[in-house]
Amino acid sequence: MANLILDERDQRFVLNEMLEVGKLCESAQYSDFSADMFDMVMTQAQKLAVEEIFPTLKESDEQGCRLENGQVHVPECFHRPYKLFVDGGWNAMSFPSEVGGQGLPSVIRNAATDWFAHNFSFISYPGLAEGAAHLVLNYGTADQKQRYFARMVTGEYGGTMCLTEPSAGTDVGNLSTKAIRQPDGTFRLQGTKLFITVGDSDLVTNVIHPVLARIEGDPAGTGGISIFLVPKYLVNDDGTLGRRNDYEIAKIEEKLGIHGSATCLMNFGDKGECYAELLGEERQGMKIMFQLMNEARIGVGLQGLASASIAYLHALNYAKDRQQGSSLLEMKNPQAPRVPIIQHADVRRMLLWMKSHVDAMRGLMYYASYAIDRELVAADEAERDKWKGLLELLTPICKAYCSDVSFKVTELAVQTYGGYGYCSEYPVGQFLRDEKIASIYEGANGIQALDLIGRKLAMKKGAYFIGLLTEMNSTIARYKGALPELAAEVQEAVNTLGEIAFFFATCGKQGKFLVPIVHAYPFMMLMGKVVCAWILLWQAGIAKGKLDELAQAKGVNPADAAGWTGFVKENKDAAFYAGKQASAKYFVKNVLPEIYSAVRSIKSEDLSVLEIAEESFVTN
Ligand SMILES: Cc1cc2nc3c(=O)[nH]c(=O)nc-3n(C[C@H](O)[C@H](O)[C@H](O)COP(=O)(O)OP(=O)(O)OC[C@H]3O[C@@H](n4cnc5c(N)ncnc54)[C@H](O)[C@@H]3O)c2cc1C
Repeated sequence: MANLILDERDQRFVLNEMLEVGKLCESAQYSDFSADMFDMVMTQAQKLAVEEIFPTLKESDEQGCRLENGQVHVPECFHRPYKLFVDGGWNAMSFPSEVGGQGLPSVIRNAATDWFAHNFSFISYPGLAEGAAHLVLNYGTADQKQRYFARMVTGEYGGTMCLTEPSAGTDVGNLSTKAIRQPDGTFRLQGTKLFITVGDSDLVTNVIHPVLARIEGDPAGTGGISIFLVPKYLVNDDGTLGRRNDYEIAKIEEKLGIHGSATCLMNFGDKGECYAELLGEERQGMKIMFQLMNEARIGVGLQGLASASIAYLHALNYAKDRQQGSSLLEMKNPQAPRVPIIQHADVRRMLLWMKSHVDAMRGLMYYASYAIDRELVAADEAERDKWKGLLELLTPICKAYCSDVSFKVTELAVQTYGGYGYCSEYPVGQFLRDEKIASIYEGANGIQALDLIGRKLAMKKGAYFIGLLTEMNSTIARYKGALPELAAEVQEAVNTLGEIAFFFATCGKQGKFLVPIVHAYPFMMLMGKVVCAWILLWQAGIAKGKLDELAQAKGVNPADAAGWTGFVKENKDAAFYAGKQASAKYFVKNVLPEIYSAVRSIKSEDLSVLEIAEESFVTN
């Protein structure tokens, strides 16, 4: 195994065999690229990740960030990879070439990030800046683009997203940071933001903060929120840096994980001089910030995929090496040789659970990223709308389902290591600690579920949801000849998903609107399982065809069990494709049936969680 970050064979499979991303180059948008170039991007991303970013993972966790005289110092080991990262243009993959970016499709940008995101502390510095730069590019004035964007795209300036306040977490509309209008059209901000990822760093010369605040006199709630650009240092017309703006980094949070990422408490305008410029129109703050939040939600899904991937590969590697116990067949023989733990059924159960989920999540995350590109290159409005709808529906699944499932993968990796997994000398505990935040930020997962059932299912009168079911059904139709049993089970699950969505709609019409709200999270997890089963069927269908071709070319008869086993063990491609089939079969037979217990619970219309009196939760 060349690296323990991700399986590059799987990455190439999803990009080239499942999504056929090379076909994007047939569009005018991506005609400067070719499939070979995309391949080279992956090779270079792998090199940077393996040689420069991965080696900083443990050290940055141990070292953390420091606040000295109001300046944040990131772990020393981040400086070299950050320079290589921005010099290589990795921070600008998603920007058009006309503005200094690489102009790459989102699917390629996110596949490259699959290599980097295992070290989420590191990637949060260029990642947050990239998101903030997108806002400036899309909503900024020409002057803001020239003063801020031009240096954000080179990695010289950093960026953040400042929403959260002590009394405005999930409840963003409750924020109290105020913007005071100035005669020259600028604003002065006053307020406190907390939990601000990479709120400051010594990797960059300046930081541009998009900050949500309410202009004095504007209405309460989300509709009264505007968004402002707050530079750390004011930027003069000639591009030189002016005065230090009036805000301070009051503290870096001590966290469970991602220690290398500076999570900052920031006080704006203690001296009344915190300079801010409006971004876009007044009272459009939430709408504008939503662009960043949607990108960030896919980013959090990628964090989940990357954490799960590195955790799985470490667990696999360990399970092949660690000798413990003897073969099941020699249980009663104390002299029996010790075997690697991968030979034990329960360890294999954990590994296959991890593998099947990582396979599914990689397929799903790349597919959702590809939907962004397909929307962009669509030939007509109907096609554009189709891909937009798929992305809308899949975003909460990517963010919430993937982050919760990934945490479980990291937990199983710890379990696979046994007691060693629980000790900091071994790496898997860090994967678990670093991953936990993914289910909390960018809209806690319970909120994602509410958004899914309350807004997304009903979008365009349910047409987007039906569009997703149609995509799933067409995959099933494609592979039901080759894989009849799996296809039938996935079909039943897809039908069930549609049925439950309809059940929720009926509850709404009957005034039982609390039923979908109470069961939103189980529904989201149900939908995540169905989506993953669909992706795995798709992958297994391709694998079946390739495996048949390979077997035919080698003259192997699938009916000859011994010959087939030897073929799969000796031929790397055959092993890979057989692994895809194993993932799909395991998931469909062992994970997918869980949706039927969720269905039973949802249909019971049980409202226990609301019925129990708060006093009854504990009575002592
Ligand atoms: C490491 C880290 C990095 C962060 N980075 C950033 C950043 O860069 N920028 C930024 O602005 N913020 C950031 N945050 C803040 C993060 O987005 C918030 O923590 C998150 O939005 C939840 O807000 P809260 O912590 O106040 O929890 P609360 O809002 O108090 O929620 C607590 C729990 O109650 C649930 N809950 C709350 N309201 C409802 C409701 N109406 N219905 C159902 N359930 C509800 C939530 O789902 C959650 O489980 C970060 C946080 C951390 C820890």
